Amino acid sequence: MALLGATGSIGRQTLDVLRREPDSFELVSIAGGTRLAELAEVAREFHVRRVGVARPEDYIAARGVLGDGVEVLIGGDGLAELARDADVVVNAVVGFAGLPVTINALEAGRTLALANKESFIAAAPLVARVRDTPGALVLPIDSEHCAIYQCLADSTQSGHPDVRRLLLTASGGPFRGWSRERLETVTRRDALNHPTWSMGPKITIDSSTLMNKGLEVLEASALFGVGVDRIQVVVHPQSIVHSMVEYLDGSVIAQLSQPDMRLPIAFCLGRPVRFDHAWGAIDFTTAQSLTFEPPDLDAFPAIPLAYAAARAAGAAPAWLSAANEVAVAAFLHDTIRWTDIVPIVAGVMDQYQDVQLESVEGLVAQDQHARRLASDLITRGR
Ligand code: NAD
Ligand code: MG
Repeated sequence: MALLGATGSIGRQTLDVLRREPDSFELVSIAGGTRLAELAEVAREFHVRRVGVARPEDYIAARGVLGDGVEVLIGGDGLAELARDADVVVNAVVGFAGLPVTINALEAGRTLALANKESFIAAAPLVARVRDTPGALVLPIDSEHCAIYQCLADSTQSGHPDVRRLLLTASGGPFRGWSRERLETVTRRDALNHPTWSMGPKITIDSSTLMNKGLEVLEASALFGVGVDRIQVVVHPQSIVHSMVEYLDGSVIAQLSQPDMRLPIAFCLGRPVRFDHAWGAIDFTTAQSLTFEPPDLDAFPAIPLAYAAARAAGAAPAWLSAANEVAVAAFLHDTIRWTDIVPIVAGVMDQYQDVQLESVEGLVAQDQHARRLASDLITRGR
């Protein structure tokens, strides 16, 4: 197994799964951004042979902490190589930086356990071409998509003609029920305080704007080959129902568990075996209520923006995700307000004109272009 993004929230929880299943996996490579000491600790604990770090300037320091016998690889090229290394590749990198993992794992016919939704969405037309490689398989770690994957078990035809719609659940984030006026007062600390999940900073902010759900609509459409007109977002504040599938006859199949990412991670790693850990077990001997409501699309325009990007197709999802990454980073650096994030993304999308994606190089150029447009809007607004 290769675990790329080993020092993040998904990465650490994946290591937790491995610690409890020590005989099931051999971790041959890991990668991370800049936390070299933590990477070295993981490398020692799991006897990892190859380690990727993000920046060339960290090479010497990485060599120093990792010691002899461990190969150090650098940047996107390093990620690409490590993604070809193992039978199962976990893509737990955050953001577009995870692209080499997604593309190379599939091109090499590996099982890709996918947390990194950004690269998958941005590269959807390119991913579609490499997904047919013999041996290649995508298993979704994202909890909603892992749920839908399980709920679709009996729907085997391509495009799922027996399915009326996918019902993607959303907790609603920390600002559920807030008016537009009240949202003007949001601070960084408020936005980083998610009610039901503990996650990395970027996805936590995405969950507060509901852009995460917008990205997940695109992710579900690309994963399951179902058009976004057949995908509906349902707010479910308890985060117990992780998503649902409605069949043509009105039957709805759901997957339930306590919110614990180790469950979908272990599902992907173990499949078709289920590990005996009961991370997600629900105690039905105590009273519970599960509630459902429609999202407030007026207060949270990120969702309609994502649907529009899906309908525009081509490079539009890549633009959406790139602009969002820039805006979220600016918010985390206190450069813009929370209420600026989605309008900046919308301002970039207003400039989108139909672009088809033909190659990875073309996609990288589109990503960079959208980032420049977002940065320009941020600079102009200050
Ligand atoms: P995080 O910020 O906690 O961790 C990100 C990881 O990526 C770190 O190990 C970091 O070192 C690594 N990284 C960043 N840039 C890199 C680069 N250029 N090269 C190599 N490594 C790099 O993020 P996270 O919350 O673990 O999320 C990871 C991905 O999983 C995201 O795409 C997110 O949307 C998705 N996801 C996360 C959760 C969750 O519960 N955290 C749930 C569903 C989906
Ligand atoms: Mg999710």
